[in-house]
Amino acid sequence: MSIPPFDQRDGFIWVNGALAPWRDAKLHVLSHGLHYGSCVFEGERAYGGKIFKSREHSERFKRSAEILDFEIPYSVEELDAAKDATLKANNLKNSYVRPVAWRGSEMMAVAAQNSTIHVAIAVWDWPSMFDIATKMKGIKLDIAEYRRPDPQTAPSMAKAAGLYMICTISKHRAERRGYADALMLDWQGRVAECTGANVFFVKDGKLHTPIADCFLDGITRRTVIDLAKRQGIELIERRIMPEEMASFEECFICGTGAEVTPVADIGGQYSFTPGAVSRALIEAYDKEVNA
Ligand code: PMP
Repeated sequence: MSIPPFDQRDGFIWVNGALAPWRDAKLHVLSHGLHYGSCVFEGERAYGGKIFKSREHSERFKRSAEILDFEIPYSVEELDAAKDATLKANNLKNSYVRPVAWRGSEMMAVAAQNSTIHVAIAVWDWPSMFDIATKMKGIKLDIAEYRRPDPQTAPSMAKAAGLYMICTISKHRAERRGYADALMLDWQGRVAECTGANVFFVKDGKLHTPIADCFLDGITRRTVIDLAKRQGIELIERRIMPEEMASFEECFICGTGAEVTPVADIGGQYSFTPGAVSRALIEAYDKEVNA
């Protein structure tokens, strides 16, 4: 059975304060968000009807907009309530949650000081993809040609639509080459993150992860750090050069979509054996999100 495209489904999407029939949730082609990338979004998951770390996502959503010099006209509490209402209206319990905010159509030029800010929230069915046995085989990552930009070059810390141009290009190239995703270096050539997930490595039972100063400090990343601490696993946040990957034993990526997913190979140059630390964190994360 073919899956209908996202604009041809049924249900309800929350648009600017009220639930609208799914197919009516449209924007005009002359929207600043589309032409000039003034658009921010979130990616969240609900487990058993409860959105994991909903408040943190709403806070980041508002912060991302502020970085792009606009204000989302709803409070964190209002956004949280709107997400819950959208889940309920669509009768979904285990799903993806996508809030998005963009500048509207009042001004079609670089400056857009007086634009209306539009906000929408959509939810759709998206169960966790793999069972643990499949997950433990590990995925393969390409090494992207594009790098995460210098924070002086782009609003690196916002979850802004424009930052995903290089992610889509890199992920397409990775998929064409038989990889599941791509590892991106940062503007200084250090290991950064994947196209939609953060990355961790394991060596001698300790976790190593890059400092999140020019890419998204994921909510899953912070959750994994917290879970590792609770299990007494030492965490080292530091600069990691690509050559160092040869000395790591395990590797995993993490994000709302990916959850905790082990990596078996990066670029055909570095191989890893998903092991005890990855398994412990997959299980702990699963427990945490379903608590
Ligand atoms: N980096 C990028 C580029 C992402 O798109 C995501 C997914 N939002 C992440 C990291 C992980 O963030 P989170 O754990 O908050 O989903």
